[in-house]
Amino acid sequence: MAADDPSDDEVRAALDAFLARGGNRRPGPSPTDFILTRLHLLEGSVTRRVEHRTEEIRHRPGTVALSERPVYDVLGDYKLSPHETPLAQPLDLVRRGSVHLRSCDCGNGRRRCADCNGMKYRPCEPAHVCAVCQGITACTHYLNHGGLPGTPPRPPRPGRADRPGERVTCEACHTPDSACPGCRGWGKVRCPDCEASGRIPCTPCGRTGTVECATCEGHGNLTSWTAGRIAWTSQTKAVPSPVPRPRRVASELGSGGWHEDRLGDDPLPDDLSPTHRAALEPHLRRWKGEKERRLAIQRLTVVKATPPGSGNLEFYVFRGTDGRLSVVRRLSEEGRWKASLAVAAAVALVVLVLVLIL
Ligand SMILES: [Zn+2]
Ligand SMILES: [Zn+2]
Ligand SMILES: [Zn+2]
Ligand SMILES: [Zn+2]
Ligand SMILES: [Zn+2]
Repeated sequence: MAADDPSDDEVRAALDAFLARGGNRRPGPSPTDFILTRLHLLEGSVTRRVEHRTEEIRHRPGTVALSERPVYDVLGDYKLSPHETPLAQPLDLVRRGSVHLRSCDCGNGRRRCADCNGMKYRPCEPAHVCAVCQGITACTHYLNHGGLPGTPPRPPRPGRADRPGERVTCEACHTPDSACPGCRGWGKVRCPDCEASGRIPCTPCGRTGTVECATCEGHGNLTSWTAGRIAWTSQTKAVPSPVPRPRRVASELGSGGWHEDRLGDDPLPDDLSPTHRAALEPHLRRWKGEKERRLAIQRLTVVKATPPGSGNLEFYVFRGTDGRLSVVRRLSEEGRWKASLAVAAAVALVVLVLVLIL
C-alpha cells in the first residue's frame, strides 16, 4: 500500500477527536472497539495520441504551390521530425514526382453559357394579349378590320385601364369611340420585359455567351498530385475503478488527499498493490498507431469504521489534501431502516388517532 495510508491507531485517534467534538451525547461504544474496513480506491485514465496516415489523389484549379510541403516516397516510411507533431493540425505531404499541371478541357477557363446556349440573349414574346379586353373586345367595329393588318409594326404600349368601358378611337379602323383603351383596338400590347424586341439580355453570362468554367475556376488548367496526410488524435479513456467510491461519501472524497501519479511510457509505480496492478494492466495495451500516452492514476484509502454490534451510524475516515485525517459520519443501512420504520410507526399512530377521534 501507499506510504500515506493511515494506521489503525491514527484512525482511532481521529475518531476519538471527532466524537469528543460532538459534545456530551449519550455514551456510545469507544472507537477502540470499532470495526475498521479499508477500501483502497483507484481511479485513472489513459490519454493516447494515435496516428493515422492517409493518401489520396487531389485535383485543384490552377497552379497550386506545393513546394513548401514535405516530400515522401512511401508514406508509411516517412519519419516525423521533432517539430512535426500533427496534433492540432494534420501534416500534409506530397509524394515525390506526383505533381502534374494539365490543361482543362474547357481550353481557356470559360464554357458556353447554359442559360442562353451562347446566344447572349434569351428569346421573349414581343407582345402580350391586352389585359383590359383579353383581346376579345378590342374594337366594337371589328368587322371594319377585314383586310386591315392585324398588328401594327411595333405593338402599342399598354394604355389606360382604369375605365375599361370608356372607348377610344380605334388605331386599326379609325372608328371613333370604338376601341378598348388598353390596346386601342389592336388586342395586343407591347411586352414590358423586352420592349417588343423579342429578346432579353442573358444575366448569368452578362451578355457574353460564356461563363467561368467550374472545373478549373477560370484558370484553364488544373494541378493534380498524390497527397499524403499524417494526423494525430488525442483519445482519453477512463479506467474502470476496481473498488468504486462509497456512495454515501462519493462527493466528499473529491476533496480527499489523493495520491497522484502521472506517467508516460514508464513502468507502473513500485508501491502499486497487485490488485490495482491487475485492474490497470488490461487497459494499458498498446493501440494500433499509438505514438504517445499519458497515464494518470490516483489512489486514496478510505477506512470505514462501524461500531460493534448493531449501530445506527458509520464513519468514513480518509486523508485530506493537508495530510490530516477527515471523519465523515453517516447513517448506516440499519440506521436508515430504523428511521423509516419510526416514520411509518408515527404515520400509523396519527392515522389511528384520527380514526378514533372522528
Ligand atoms: Zn448566357
Ligand atoms: Zn377598329
Ligand atoms: Zn384591349
Ligand atoms: Zn418580351
Ligand atoms: Zn476549365
